Amino acid sequence: MFGIEAKGTFDYERFRTLCVRLFDADEVEQHERRTREIFELFDANADGALNEQELHRCCNWIHATVNPVNVLLVVDVQNDFIDGTLALRQSGYGQEGLEVLEPINRLLRDGRWDKVMYSLDWHPENHISFFDNLAMRELHPESKITKEMAKPFDTVVFLQPHLTQTLWPKHCVMNTWGAELHKDLLILPSSERIYKGQDPDKESYSAFENIDGSSKLDKILSAFGTTHLYVCGLALDICVKETCLDGLRFGYRVAVIDDCCRGVKPDDITAARKIITERGGLVECSDRILSLVNDGKRSLVMAHHAAKITS
Ligand SMILES: [Zn+2]
Repeated sequence: MFGIEAKGTFDYERFRTLCVRLFDADEVEQHERRTREIFELFDANADGALNEQELHRCCNWIHATVNPVNVLLVVDVQNDFIDGTLALRQSGYGQEGLEVLEPINRLLRDGRWDKVMYSLDWHPENHISFFDNLAMRELHPESKITKEMAKPFDTVVFLQPHLTQTLWPKHCVMNTWGAELHKDLLILPSSERIYKGQDPDKESYSAFENIDGSSKLDKILSAFGTTHLYVCGLALDICVKETCLDGLRFGYRVAVIDDCCRGVKPDDITAARKIITERGGLVECSDRILSLVNDGKRSLVMAHHAAKITS
């Protein structure tokens, strides 16, 4: 495969030639340092060439690169974040949740996904994150904001459980209109749903978090052999961000589809893109993502993260 069986020393020059075939020649040129770092990750004994064992790990990486299992995860495209109690537009930063529907539907229609999942924020009435429930639990003495002072969107520290929590307006109460996926969102028949935030005493921004502390999403994704996780939805600076960071932590190659997300605050959105990139994720627009998923194009950035995990 890609000339890797050929005899002789498998040094950086040969690895680079391989990368030019696997990825865009331009991308390799642009990311020379990244390409070298991938080689160095495989070259565990740092002798400048890959021995049989090192080559074996490299082959596994190539295998996952050329045989991707692509999963699309649509995060929290729910009524409350679009037209309800936590509608993005109400924050006053010019973000509009409705704008994700058309580009996400295009992704759903046109992408050749191996699996599609939808996450839903799904809270009981007594959820710790609701401002309305502030009277139900004691605050920690270290909480700078007292119950008397607190307003929605403030951050307080609870005593039991001891955690720092932003107080949101009541939202996404399970089995109510606010928690439903938006009626104009395309739901693919073979898709799956993942629910988060059911534990009354726990905030769960990431779709990887679960009521019992284990990750149901990770179990589903790994059982399916997922290599690549593509994430879009609401809100980029909160739940989309945390989901991407967890996805990277769990070892998936992760891309966030930028034009298919909206967030709350522009500064936080910029910071979210930055941290996702720093942790090894790809931030890209849907046209490029569709070319990765449909036309067999490959991302060196996503492959780099996988090399860190597999080597
Ligand atoms: Zn919530």
